[in-house]
Amino acid sequence: MKIARSLSELQDITQNWKKHNQSIAFVPTMGALHDGHLSLVKLARGKADQCVVSIYVNPTQFAPHEDFDSYPRMEAADLKKLEQAGASLVYLPRTAELYPNGVVSDLKAGKAAQGLEADFRPTHFDGVVSVVGKLFDHVKPHIAIFGEKDYQQLCVLKEAFGKTPQIIGAPIARDEAGLALSSRNAYLSPEELKIARMLNKTLYFLADEIRDFPQEVDELISLSIQTLLDAGFDEVDYLALRQEHTLAPLNVWNRNPARLLVAVRLGKTRLIDNVGV
Ligand code: AMP
Repeated sequence: MKIARSLSELQDITQNWKKHNQSIAFVPTMGALHDGHLSLVKLARGKADQCVVSIYVNPTQFAPHEDFDSYPRMEAADLKKLEQAGASLVYLPRTAELYPNGVVSDLKAGKAAQGLEADFRPTHFDGVVSVVGKLFDHVKPHIAIFGEKDYQQLCVLKEAFGKTPQIIGAPIARDEAGLALSSRNAYLSPEELKIARMLNKTLYFLADEIRDFPQEVDELISLSIQTLLDAGFDEVDYLALRQEHTLAPLNVWNRNPARLLVAVRLGKTRLIDNVGV
């Protein structure tokens, strides 16, 4: 596995691949890697000749009060996992090369970025779209893989970048109790972990209820919010049913593919999850 710590090191390798007509699948991450990230690497390896993974904790997608400084950083352990997972190249970009004109977002997210996460993290998706655009410029991938774990992010990126590169969503990797794997799960105490594991169960139950009572989406969502609060979550930022691609709000399930998306707060940790309906 190769490691590039600068744009020129990256380009030396990728240009050589391109000369030999090899395709590149790209998996951007912020590190603190778990099996969810590694499932993306596995998917990437099956889709192209070479798999590039980036590790970069992107400042522009964090608001000043969020966990940018304390976000877990564990480069040596991450590199070991990526080597075992069969990544061809890990790119560890320098901030000065990604943001030569200052650490600010220079792209705006589109319609898919309205509501949900954006209501609570208003600058987040501009930061995501900006850094992903810069990483795409550096890596020049044919395919890019993102997890459905961050479902709104996946929709925002598909809207922003269209078909170049081809953006593929990967299913959510969960632990044995169904909790969506997340680097932020490391913040949870054993007691909080038990509560966190109720989140996916509540979502799956709600999805079944919506299939049975498609006219009663709002009432069913209100009941599920109460269930989450009773289970011990401190706050429910949102729980909403949306059209699966545009993320347009749905009050009635019209039997077309839709997505239930949720964000909750538990102690100091914010958790997100989603399921298809
Ligand atoms: P992050 O490092 O949190 O920015 O995540 C990097 C990529 O991994 C994003 O595309 C995430 O959606 C994806 N990802 C994170 N957790 C999971 C998971 N549990 N299952 C699938 N993909 C995930």
